[in-house]
Amino acid sequence: MDYVGRFAPSPTGPLHFGSLITALASYCEAKSNQGQWLVRIEDTDIPRIYPDSEQHILRCIDAFEFVPDGDILFQKDRLEIYEDVLVQLKAQHDIYACQCTRKMLGSNAIYAGTCRDLNLDFANQAIRLKVNDEPICFDDPLQSRQCSNLAEDLGDFVLKRRDGIISYQLAVVVDDYLQGVTNVVRGADLLDNTARQIWLGHCLGYPELNYLHLPLAMNADGRKLSKQNFAQALDPDNASELLSQAAQALNQPPLDLDRPSTMLAQAVAQWQRERIPQSTILSQIYQ
Ligand code: GLU
Repeated sequence: MDYVGRFAPSPTGPLHFGSLITALASYCEAKSNQGQWLVRIEDTDIPRIYPDSEQHILRCIDAFEFVPDGDILFQKDRLEIYEDVLVQLKAQHDIYACQCTRKMLGSNAIYAGTCRDLNLDFANQAIRLKVNDEPICFDDPLQSRQCSNLAEDLGDFVLKRRDGIISYQLAVVVDDYLQGVTNVVRGADLLDNTARQIWLGHCLGYPELNYLHLPLAMNADGRKLSKQNFAQALDPDNASELLSQAAQALNQPPLDLDRPSTMLAQAVAQWQRERIPQSTILSQIYQ
């Protein structure tokens, strides 16, 4: 089967070193499998968009000389597509409207299905996908076999929020399918979402994807590099040095300092997935 991979950042903050690790690993996996590598900007969560981060992502793609195989896709231009998928799910009786507020549900509560049989009108309500009481499992080459029972672990989950925002779960599954993605390479912080995405894909009759969840880059305090922790933004003027550090963080053979496109070609040529550290903490520290 032809390999199609992707890098799908959300513009909720500037790209940081952890994002570069994901970009590099997803690129090398795709290219070493003679595959395509796509870029998608996941910008459905408009209230969480961080000023100028979209421009920073695009500047970094350019500066690191990553060349996507196809136009960069922006999810905010695709809202009608997601709405059409909701129509399909509604016709299949897989979704329902939910009037529970966050306050009613508490913070970490497993959703008890309170609104499942209320037949509420869909307008101005959250939309939830019904889940099954069965384990959903997948084999991740780095994280081993993962299983989750969505009914026990989570309950019916939200595909569209009451404020009209399409959830990450819905947009990511629909776009991976429509873009012909076969392989998802992303940080292990997203591991928790995968069972939900497999289940939604199953409800929609989409083929299953292969997943590889990368160990997370941590800062010197042992905290995950993240936008929320104000991880330092990638410096597009220091692309070659950062690429070399990212390859090192993935425990790949060293890259010769050169222009980024030459380094990327070398990274692909000497890519060895089995060398990626298995644990979810990378020893390489960048802050
Ligand atoms: N947009 C997500 C993020 O930036 C990643 C989505 C994915 O790779 O599935 O965290």
